[in-house]
Amino acid sequence: MSDRGIEFKPNMDDPKYVKLTSGLPEGISRAEISYRKAGGLRGSREVHRSAAEFAHLRTSAHTGYDGGRSAPEQLTLGHAERYIEQARQRMREQDNEIRRIHEAVDLDCPWCERRRTYIGVLGFITGVAGILTDRPAEWGQELLHQHAYRCDRCGSMQYFADGFLAHPLPGRPGT
Ligand SMILES: [Zn+2]
Repeated sequence: MSDRGIEFKPNMDDPKYVKLTSGLPEGISRAEISYRKAGGLRGSREVHRSAAEFAHLRTSAHTGYDGGRSAPEQLTLGHAERYIEQARQRMREQDNEIRRIHEAVDLDCPWCERRRTYIGVLGFITGVAGILTDRPAEWGQELLHQHAYRCDRCGSMQYFADGFLAHPLPGRPGT
């Protein structure tokens, strides 16, 4: 479960490289560890971990751009394992934190005493009033995405701004 942000290629038991997209240090969005052996034109080549002498770590600071990758940093095999273990540890902590918040968030409708159902993301248009009018000025408009939960009995709604928690909140099936 905590391996969702870690991919072992071509297989988990004896990978040639490992891609990490979660649980990384602050400011790093992606990391790739490749297992290597000295030799070849570039000074080293990728091999299975069981045959590796050392590892290369490359990181990206931003999502979506492969061009933003760092130059490879050489790690011992022990350091490479620790890097992966630390990412796993951070992912476990994030999972625990989300679980803790979920347990704290009350999705129950206070009037009907039943849980509100997740109905998906709604876009809220916000704006400022135009000059000399109460109508919204078009240039001031912004679309805010909100995760919405609705009571199936009375229709009251509860909203969470996008970008904070993973929705639907863990353990809650979507509809
Ligand atoms: Zn209700």
